[in-house]
Amino acid sequence: MNKKGILEDFRKKYGKDFVKAYTAVKRKRVMKVIYKDAQQVFWIVYSPYRRRFHLVVSDLFCTCRDFYLNVVLRKKRDYCYHILARKLAEMTGMYETRYLDEKTLQRFIIELYINLKYID
Ligand SMILES: [Zn+2]
Repeated sequence: MNKKGILEDFRKKYGKDFVKAYTAVKRKRVMKVIYKDAQQVFWIVYSPYRRRFHLVVSDLFCTCRDFYLNVVLRKKRDYCYHILARKLAEMTGMYETRYLDEKTLQRFIIELYINLKYID
């Protein structure tokens, strides 16, 4: 499926949540991080409202409050908009990739949680 088709599919399926997710993707707030030493992949999505990064693992987990409340506790949905944004970014190829090793991973995590560095 081409990019336009993917976007249309998401729009139909997720409505308002699609708009939030797509905005995050368009504004380059979604980043794929590859930790080379362990061959692990995780994604981060920057949330400008809370000025915070969220860690997203596949379609399964996000560190945001919405995921905890509405997915884990209330079981209202099986995703938050960060998970949608990650999925959309991956399917459309609209993301940047950052490669880290043991040394740079530590610094990267410190930047994320202490300095709240914005991805630009
Ligand atoms: Zn989330």
